Order: sequence, then structure tokens, then C-alpha cells
Amino acid sequence: MQYDVIVGGGGHAGCEAALAAARMGARTLLITISRASIGRMSCNPAVGGLAKGQLAREVDALGGEIAKVTDETSIQFRMLNRKKGPAVHSPRAQVDRLLYERTMQEHVSRPDRLHIVEAVAAGVMAGDDGVAGVVSEGGTRYAAPRVVLTTGTFLRGVIHIGTDQYQAGRIDEPPANALSESLERLGLELGRLKTGTPPRLDRTSINYDILEAQEGDETPLPFSYSNYRLDRPSVPCHLTRTTPTTHDIIRDNLDRAPLYTGQIKSTGPRYCPSIETKIVRFPDKDSHLIFLEPEGIDSNVVYCNGIATSVPRDVQDRVVHSIPGLERARIGRYGYAIEYDFVPPTQELPSLESRAVPGLYLAGQINGTSGYEEAAGQGIVAGINAVKGLRGEEPLVLSRTEAYIGVLIDDLVTKGTDEPYRMFTSRAEYRLLLRQDNADRRLMKYGHQCGLISDEQYDRLRRKEDQIAAALEYLDTRRRNGTSLRQLLKRTEHTFESLETIDPQLAARRLPGSVKQQVEIETKYEGYIARQMRQISRFKRLEDKRIPANLDYANITGLTIEAVQKLSAVGPVSVGQASRISGVSPADVSVLLVYLGRRQVKKKTAKGERKHSE
Ligand SMILES: Cc1cc2nc3c(=O)[nH]c(=O)nc-3n(C[C@H](O)[C@H](O)[C@H](O)COP(=O)(O)OP(=O)(O)OC[C@H]3O[C@@H](n4cnc5c(N)ncnc54)[C@H](O)[C@@H]3O)c2cc1C
Repeated sequence: MQYDVIVGGGGHAGCEAALAAARMGARTLLITISRASIGRMSCNPAVGGLAKGQLAREVDALGGEIAKVTDETSIQFRMLNRKKGPAVHSPRAQVDRLLYERTMQEHVSRPDRLHIVEAVAAGVMAGDDGVAGVVSEGGTRYAAPRVVLTTGTFLRGVIHIGTDQYQAGRIDEPPANALSESLERLGLELGRLKTGTPPRLDRTSINYDILEAQEGDETPLPFSYSNYRLDRPSVPCHLTRTTPTTHDIIRDNLDRAPLYTGQIKSTGPRYCPSIETKIVRFPDKDSHLIFLEPEGIDSNVVYCNGIATSVPRDVQDRVVHSIPGLERARIGRYGYAIEYDFVPPTQELPSLESRAVPGLYLAGQINGTSGYEEAAGQGIVAGINAVKGLRGEEPLVLSRTEAYIGVLIDDLVTKGTDEPYRMFTSRAEYRLLLRQDNADRRLMKYGHQCGLISDEQYDRLRRKEDQIAAALEYLDTRRRNGTSLRQLLKRTEHTFESLETIDPQLAARRLPGSVKQQVEIETKYEGYIARQMRQISRFKRLEDKRIPANLDYANITGLTIEAVQKLSAVGPVSVGQASRISGVSPADVSVLLVYLGRRQVKKKTAKGERKHSE
């Protein structure tokens, strides 16, 4: 029962954490309530979307699994925002929900060093040196010096449908209550959040004849950098809308809606409100869009994207029947809301390690996030850092300047969250650099250093970099009527392909599409990219100013009381991180910089005097 790393929870964060740890050579145990629910999609059967697609590709570039499993199970692919600039292009794939979980289960069963145990983790064992393992509900003790908890919505989960409420981790799955108590005993503070899901319909009861179909892209792009093309079938979604009658039904039943009766007390995701919240919040809108998404090629289950709800079952029936195309639809599973405990993530270091319990890492919804991609991004980082911690190596901390995962984790550990946190492109200051098309160029080096990206795949990236550099040089040197091809490419009327028709030697190079794309983006957006690079150098100056652990902020004269409290609570690792804590003003940052500068001078002088006296 002795392991190097134990991962508690086999969801989207847990699978990435366990696979990363095992592939890095750690004897890893994945302890999860049920093998059959490993990799389960609790809500929408889709991966990616705005900013989430970037996250999934970043996980892939680090050597993770979410993009590969998506490619193996997709049933429709679309590149969102194609008409806008490349910074906000975002891949999204709908997947076959059951095939997705089965495929992920198959992937996690492959590594020899990864053992899976079906059990409920009831407690984290810890001593003076930090974490020591996990104890199951049955009392079995599993020892390990590193533990990653990824328990999703299961901690003291309570499901609400109308006035019905009962304890559960997810529909038809038990809650994990004892683990919450164990974390509290270890000194971790817990908070409470809420999320919700829409009803699922029986496909055969929907009148598709009157609905608009939405097809996927004709040439789907693989999510994973290890795939060149996708050979998966594509099925359409269908669009419909709520009607004034739908809104009347909901308004008339708000006194039975747990979100409005006071039954649900915690905060839900503002960006992804329930249909009852949309109707209350936007009273002038008489219609909301709904996407009817099939849960698989052969599945009869249809996911109603846009009407998450926890109103009573009879109201859900009436709501659904008031929507065009759904007049006779049968609900196979009613929508519900769930409240659960989370660990406010300002209690963690940027490595996702708990500050109170060294060796304990947290990732996914337990940190207050929402979404498979956000969970996967944290999961792979926590798994990598658990192993790095064991080896006494510096943790992998991705910067806000190089990855959405960096933005995500920095936001969580620096600002915390009081609602389920999801990623948006607007959260990333340097989003022109953090594109979905260049995640390999930004992050594969880290995956390779950790041993999660093979030499072969990394060599492919190096060849791609060489081709990009050579093509840029060629475009700079070749001229057409006195203008370099590079200058021509900057013009809106030109693309890489149009230059190939002008210059046969360029076409003769037969460069892959991914290389042409990088050359084109780097050329067309050169000015903007250069500006972001200058902003990044300024940003890095504060990031590079490290703050020693356990600094006593109360002893620094000039800091406001609020700043002392916030800085002590978050324990930032750099002045840059300190400057992003709410309540820490630019004046506080200046005080901190002066203090650290003086401290460094004092240290240097003391060192010099010691040397002199020796
Ligand atoms: C009702 C609902 C609605 C949602 N709506 C959305 C949405 O609209 N948009 C969106 O992006 N995301 C949504 N999500 C969130 C999305 O499903 C999660 O963010 C994502 O699955 C989180 O991944 P995770 O790995 O952190 O946890 P999960 O995927 O929940 O996995 C947790 C795993 O841990 C296991 N586990 C839990 N406790 C224990 C224990 N004590 N011992 C052993 N194993 C344990 C569970 O069995 C499970 O396998 C919703 C989730 C739910 C439940």
C-alpha cells in the first residue's frame, strides 16, 4: 500500500494528474469511487469552446490526454470565431459521451505504474512533515508522500430539483462527506458553490423537421498535436429557442424554484446562468437560444444546451413542451442543481500545493473552477508537481505570459474565486500570443523536459520551428517589384497560398499547413506581437522580484492594514503576484519593492562583512 503519489478522484483533473505522475515514473494510485465513472462528463458532451479550446490544446502540448481522447471520440468539430482574429479562434468538439469515458478508462488502465482502486477517500493522513497518504471509507490506509485531490462536486454535495433535495456527488452517485471533515481538521478552510445542468431528452420524441440544423466544419482539425487528421463521423446539432410561454411558466413557478426560494444558498456561475436566472435577470428578452446536442452517434439522449434548471419536474416538463420542436419531447433525465464544498484556492502555492499541508495538491472543481478543460489543465500541473516535489525539483509554474493554464492557476491562487471560475479569452492579457494554434510552440518543451512528450514528437516540433524560421527568412529576402514577400504578406489581400502562386520556388518548398499558418500569423500581426512582447518584458520585471516565504508583512512599515492582511493570507511568491491581489494598491507595491531592495542590500553587506572578517 506504499505509493509515491496518490490521486483521489478519477474525473478530468484526476485522470491527467494520475497519468502524468505514472508516466513520469512515480508509483501512482488512483483511488476513485467507481471505475465505471472515470472520465465521466457530468454536464455537456463537448470539449473546447472559447478559451477552453486553448486550454485543451495546452494540456496536449504538455503531454496530457484530454485532446487525444476528444479526437478519438468526437462527433462534430467546429472552429469558433473563425471570422475574428487568430487570438480568439477556439476549437470545440462534441463527443460521444459514453465512448469518451470508456476511452479515457482504457487510457488510464495502460501505464504499469498506475494502479486503480475503487474506494471512497474518507481522509487525508498527515503528520508534522506534511501529507502521509489517504484512508478509505472502509479504513484501508494507502501511504504516499504526495497526494493530489480532484474530487469535483462530490464534497458534501447536495442535489436540488424543485423542493426535493438530497445528498449526492452527482446524479446517481454518492457524496463524499468525510473527506470535507478531514480537510477541515487539517486546517483547510472550505467554501460552498453551486452549479446546474439541463434536462436530457429522448431523441425520438423531438420534431426535427421544424428545427434548423447546425453542421460541423467540413474539414475538422484534430485537437491533439499527435494527430494529423480526423476520420470521425460528424452529426449535426439543432437550434431552437425559448418562447414567451416558456418565460411565463418559469415566472409563474419561481416560488417553487430552489434558486429563488432560499433553498440554494451558494453562488452559481454568473456566465452560465440557469434558465430561471436568465429570465429574471433579463426580463426584456422574450427568447433564449437552445442547442440540441446529441450525446453520441447511436445515442438517443439529447443534451439541451441553454436551459440548465432546477425547477420542479412538472415545471421542467411544461418548460420543454413550450419550446418549438419539443412539444412532445420526453425528458429522460431532469435538470438539477448541485451545491458542494470547495477549497478556496488562495490557500495554495502556484504549484497547486497546499500551504497548510505540504505534499497535498488540489486540482479541478475542488479549487472552485468549472469545466473539464480547466480541471484537466490543473490536473496535469498538479500531477507533474507532485512528482517534481518528490524529486526535490522546482515546480512547474506556467506564467500568465505563456499559457492560459498559467492565467488560470495564477488567478486562482492570487485572487481566489467566489463563483465557479471558468476561463475566458478576456482573462488573458497576452492572448495574441496564447493562441490555440501555437500551444505546441509555447509549452511542448516543458512536456518534453518532464518526459511526457516523446523525443520523436519533440523532434517534429523542432523541424517545424526550423521550417518556420527558414520560411520567414526566405520571405524577407525574396523581392517582387522591389517589395519583399514578407511585406506583401502583411497586406490583407495576400495569404501564404497567394504568395505561392506568385513565387513558384516558395510553392516548391511544399510546407505543411501548420507552418504556413504560423508564418502568416507572425507576419500579419508582427506589430501587435512586438507590442505584447514589450509589455511582457515589463511584466517580467516584477515577476522576477521574488518574495521570501514566510515574510512578516506586519513588520513592513508603510503597508496598509488591508495589504498586510491580504498579503499574509495569500503569501505571494513574487512582487508581480502581490500586485495582482485585490486590496494591494500600487503604493503598497512600491513600499514592498523598497523593503525588498533594502533587505537585499543589508544581506549583501552582511555577507561582505562576514567574508572580510574571515
Ligand atoms: C450538475 C453539474 C453541472 C455542470 N455544469 C457545467 C457546465 O455547464 N459547464 C462546465 O464547463 N462544467 C460544468 N460542470 C462541471 C464539470 O463537470 C466539472 O467542472 C468537471 O467535471 C470537473 O472535473 P473534476 O475532475 O474536478 O471533477 P469531476 O469530473 O467531478 O470528477 C471527480 C471524480 O472524483 C471522484 N471522487 C469524488 N470524491 C471522491 C472520494 N472521496 N474518493 C474517491 N473518489 C472521489 C468522483 O467519483 C469523480 O470520478 C458541471 C458539473 C455538474 C456536476
